[in-house]
Amino acid sequence: MTPPVKENDLIYVQVEPLKSIVTETFKLRGCSSKEASRIAERLSGANLRGHDSHGVIRVSRYVDYLREGKQIANVTAEIITETDILAVIDGKFGFGQTVGEQAVDIGIKKAKASGIAITALQNAGHLGRIGDWAERAAAADLVSIHMVNVRGSLMVAPFGGIDRRMSTSPFCAGIPLNDGDDPIILDMATSVVAEGKALVALKGGKPLPEDAIVTETGAITGDPKPLYGDTKQGEFPHPSNGSGALRTFGNHKGSGLNFLMEMMAGALTGSGCAGTVNEPQRRFCNGMFSMYFSPDAFGHSENSFVSEVKAYVEFLKSSRPTEVDGEVLIPGEKEKQVMVERLKSGLPLAPEAWEDILKTAQEAGLKQSNIDSILNSQ
Ligand code: NAD
Repeated sequence: MTPPVKENDLIYVQVEPLKSIVTETFKLRGCSSKEASRIAERLSGANLRGHDSHGVIRVSRYVDYLREGKQIANVTAEIITETDILAVIDGKFGFGQTVGEQAVDIGIKKAKASGIAITALQNAGHLGRIGDWAERAAAADLVSIHMVNVRGSLMVAPFGGIDRRMSTSPFCAGIPLNDGDDPIILDMATSVVAEGKALVALKGGKPLPEDAIVTETGAITGDPKPLYGDTKQGEFPHPSNGSGALRTFGNHKGSGLNFLMEMMAGALTGSGCAGTVNEPQRRFCNGMFSMYFSPDAFGHSENSFVSEVKAYVEFLKSSRPTEVDGEVLIPGEKEKQVMVERLKSGLPLAPEAWEDILKTAQEAGLKQSNIDSILNSQ
């Protein structure tokens, strides 16, 4: 296995050794082996697909969450209300990688039995890349829709506003192609970018779009600094320190969709919205409202759903590209392209992000000699 390589101011780390270091870090911090490897798998999987914002850059923040009791190791989610097609599930602040998986599996089981199902997950730890959950449902041949909010994470200003009143609230849907092809996955924050992408930009990675941030005076900028404020030497940048805000995508339309996420994932699930006037600082968690549909329940003859989807994809992609060398992509296609590249090149990390991962591993008790042997021997 190639050890980390420095190129164009980035460190390229192969996914397997990176997963081992992250797994060992969380084991040393009290997670079971299974939970630690789930966290490592999901975080590195986000990097593999190009969503660095939801990848291993989160390791030190997750460790902080554990230490502060914001997230709890080795939790089993609990069904608190249920019918044949509905489950309201309490994630009890367990790791999203664990309680998210458990909630999705409940939804899959019910949809397999009844054709459709809804799960309302409350109080989940950070659920990471929501596409993971649509992919899990698609692997069981189910269409799924996931609406997510982030309680206690005021990061986004509503359209026309300056002050943070919203979270980055992702929307996600998965369409299975049960003929062996990869599912189609739409997975997007309702802010111009996910917060972690601002963190990646702050740490020297890919710059933000010019309309991503609104400053405290109402100016619009692509500079991530107003979101984080000043970070003291040795401290990890935190968006709660900034006076600016992320903006919603698509102006009033994205703002409206974000509002809907708060209604479904925050209010309807019982998880709670991003904040209230009386309680602007709520305890951090993800809420997730998910719907699962079996195409079979809609009376499709064998494979007629998949053939219609594929015929439409072919039609859509036949639109002439605006750029000379451009290509019209369907949701999830970009991620697949990035994954092919990164499985070869390794995961590109800003040096500061890589150092942060190593420091977090060492602080958890992983010896430098162990890190070296992981990096050089796999
Ligand atoms: P993004 O903007 O990179 O992609 C959004 C969607 O657009 C994807 O489905 C992608 O396949 C598609 N896409 C990208 N380029 C395209 C192109 N050229 N043509 C057509 N489609 C294209 O993603 P994002 O909004 O920055 O979200 C990043 C991640 O952050 C997601 O995985 C999301 O689930 C996650 N997130 C999680 C939380 C949480 O609280 N757990 C909060 C916010 C975001």
